[in-house]
Amino acid sequence: MSLQLYNSLTNQMESFDSIEPGKVRLYSCGPTVYDFAHIGNFRSFLFGDLLRRTLELFDYQVHHVMNITDVGHMVEGETDKMSEAANRMKENKKSGRVPEGAIEDPNDPYQIADYYTQAFLEDARKLQYKIAFEYPDNVPKATDYIDGMQKMISRLIDRDHAYVAEDGVVYFSVESFPRYGELSGNTLEKLQSGAGGRVSDENQSRKRHPADFMLWKPDQHHVMKWDSPWGVGYPGWHIECSVMAGQLLGQDGIDIHTGGEDLIFPHHECEIAQSCCANGSDHFARYWIHARFLMVEGEKMSKSKGNFFTARDVFTGVATGSQVHPAVLRYELIKSHYRANMNFTKKGLEDSAGVVQRMLDFESRLERETGGEVAEVDRSHPLLAKFSAALANDLNISEALAEVIPWIRQEHPDPRESLAVWRAVNSVLGITDEENEAADSDPIFEQVQQWGDEMKDARSRKDWDASDAARQKILDAGYEVQLVKDGSVVIKKSLA
Ligand code: AMP
Ligand code: ZN
Repeated sequence: MSLQLYNSLTNQMESFDSIEPGKVRLYSCGPTVYDFAHIGNFRSFLFGDLLRRTLELFDYQVHHVMNITDVGHMVEGETDKMSEAANRMKENKKSGRVPEGAIEDPNDPYQIADYYTQAFLEDARKLQYKIAFEYPDNVPKATDYIDGMQKMISRLIDRDHAYVAEDGVVYFSVESFPRYGELSGNTLEKLQSGAGGRVSDENQSRKRHPADFMLWKPDQHHVMKWDSPWGVGYPGWHIECSVMAGQLLGQDGIDIHTGGEDLIFPHHECEIAQSCCANGSDHFARYWIHARFLMVEGEKMSKSKGNFFTARDVFTGVATGSQVHPAVLRYELIKSHYRANMNFTKKGLEDSAGVVQRMLDFESRLERETGGEVAEVDRSHPLLAKFSAALANDLNISEALAEVIPWIRQEHPDPRESLAVWRAVNSVLGITDEENEAADSDPIFEQVQQWGDEMKDARSRKDWDASDAARQKILDAGYEVQLVKDGSVVIKKSLA
């Protein structure tokens, strides 16, 4: 069966064909580890996971690599990410999300990055993001590849694709790569006229072209800094992915590169330019696949709107008021097509919880009936054939699920065969894996809920002073209180 994928590079659906027969080299841009990952991040990551698992269902041997961005990049013109991170760490400690004593020095960027890397892996494993079980082999950290980045920068300078500007900053020269803009459509002409946006900065006058981007910045004062031929400083953001993809997956190009839609420009455009120019190759990745953004209750998820949820706040119930099993969040995040903006709602989560429960019950029933003995899987089984065909159509997961759900409800006269089929389906969905851990409870949230019960009791006794006192304790802990008509009290983390 031929897999069709929508390639952002050509803006069309294409039949997937790997460089090496039967093998796929897949690279996904990973998290920046200066805070907990939010469910929007996980929407993009789990899309990469779904793609990998689908390729595996189609018998490809997949080498998947995802980076950890642990260098505190200062984007030109922006405020210092490092102090932002230290501030966020303070906030996370205050709200109890980072326990006291969890890190020795909350201002040390290495400790901050390490703490959130572990937190990311923990969340990712709960969500059955396969690659998180392959740390550190396939999950490299940018700080371990500084040497490779410097080598690539030197090669780019040697080949006249990069230059050292007056102030010592090393820039990539976009004019040296006429194909710049092939992915995003932000061609040199458009960028020159400012149409592409996001290229102006204070260093404009020192650059040869406004879209030239930083490869190395000498800066003695930066907290994370390394020695280099261009002075003590730190690398630009884009170079890390070119280097890690090249070193771990091969310099002669990769099959598929994924990320969220916001990474198309400038990040992925710059990755292509660096990799092609440093390696002297025509292609970096043959297929570029991007996931659309996650919305919350119809609005773009953002911190300023206060609708910003970390995965762990969803697990513990802090986000929605009740605990959510990681398998339910996984299902919720993968169930809609990656090229549609996904809308995260409480109702969606409730629906997902119902489906996941049905899947769990179905599996345990089959396990019971068969004693865990499965038949050899028959790839031509009608359900599996339809499920695979839907996924082969640009990962049409909703269509695939629309086949699976009614099938679960049907009679299963041959449970050994059904269990084999279910296991193949679940190898893609990743819903009932043994390693799936239960949701953790959050001690602070439990305490807050107890105050909620006190408040409810006090109200039923019409003891308004006691009710107000309990309410105040909840508010002081940073939670919102909503009163429901039936007298109950709903508590949610205030995220504004
Ligand atoms: P970051 O940690 O910010 O570097 O982002 C990690 C990944 O999450 C990238 O692939 C982003 O494109 C993706 N991402 C960020 N916000 C969202 C969102 N709201 N919905 C989907 N993906 C997102
Ligand atoms: Zn990247």
